[in-house]
Amino acid sequence: MIIPEFEYLSPPSLQEACALLARYGDSAKVLAGGSDLLVKMKDGLMKPAYLVSLKSLDSLKGIRYETGRGVIIGARATHNEVMNSSILQEKYRSVCEAAHSMAADQIRNIGTVGGNLVNAVPSADLPPILIALDARARIVGSSQERTIPLEDFFLGPGKTVLENGEILAEIIIPDQPTTGSNYIKFGLRRAGALAVVGVASSVTISDGICQGVRIVLGAVAPTPMRALKAEKVLRGKKLSQELIDEAGRGAAAESKPISDLRGSIEYRRNLVNVLTKRSLKAAIEKGHV
Ligand SMILES: Cc1cc2nc3c(=O)[nH]c(=O)nc-3n(C[C@H](O)[C@H](O)[C@H](O)COP(=O)(O)OP(=O)(O)OC[C@H]3O[C@@H](n4cnc5c(N)ncnc54)[C@H](O)[C@@H]3O)c2cc1C
Repeated sequence: MIIPEFEYLSPPSLQEACALLARYGDSAKVLAGGSDLLVKMKDGLMKPAYLVSLKSLDSLKGIRYETGRGVIIGARATHNEVMNSSILQEKYRSVCEAAHSMAADQIRNIGTVGGNLVNAVPSADLPPILIALDARARIVGSSQERTIPLEDFFLGPGKTVLENGEILAEIIIPDQPTTGSNYIKFGLRRAGALAVVGVASSVTISDGICQGVRIVLGAVAPTPMRALKAEKVLRGKKLSQELIDEAGRGAAAESKPISDLRGSIEYRRNLVNVLTKRSLKAAIEKGHV
């Protein structure tokens, strides 16, 4: 199908972009890399009258470190930029690995972090690892801005807390004493497949005790979800194989998968169990990244 007609708007500032979105409401859509939006328009699933492009907004580009704030990933950073970022390679290689697990170079060169998050697809690869690292989302609107835990950003498949006129500007990974973090994706092919299940974890170990842990499951609930009961099994304890096994079983029990063409409920629960254990072990063994 041919892409339906639309008016292309390329505002020079974030404020103007937000004002255009507020003015045109539901008839406007933000255009970042277009790897999802343009496909949907071509398939007739969306017909926005206006596309508000982020192309001129350099403030949303790049990945940097700011003392006191942490690692800041601009919403326009592409997956390949994330994958190759020396800052992320050094501090949170797990995020680079999650970006590497996505699609192929063509999509990774145009697809952006902002698009991946705002899409709010349950199987998306970046949300679990970013939530495991306690990332925040900076959201800018025409009259105000807010920063919220990324964990609270997703409301359901395709739904986020973004309101009319709001743009996701950046993701902030705050400085943390994390010992290690990890993301494991299980897809039906080695490359270019969507996650049947994705599991991310981050652990903080001090004096041999697990002081902090976050386990986040992807593709097994309407939104990425923390496996809170599994985390509780580990927190405050000296980690052992038995406890990690118990956490894997716990995460499987609290996951809420559906059956679809990529896997049944039982298959996904089994995967959550296995991948949670693997992810935790990898995070613990990885040392600082
Ligand atoms: C062949 C193929 C393979 C793929 N494989 C994977 C995969 O393995 N893993 C995975 O997770 N995803 C995958 N995707 C999905 C997609 O590429 C990513 O989600 C990508 O990150 C979308 O980014 P984009 O910049 O292209 O978004 P766009 O298509 O430009 O936008 C997507 C949505 O987000 C909105 N939006 C974008 N940026 C912002 C912003 N800053 N603020 C507010 N709204 C915004 C748009 O209005 C639109 O609704 C794949 C897609 C394709 C086509």
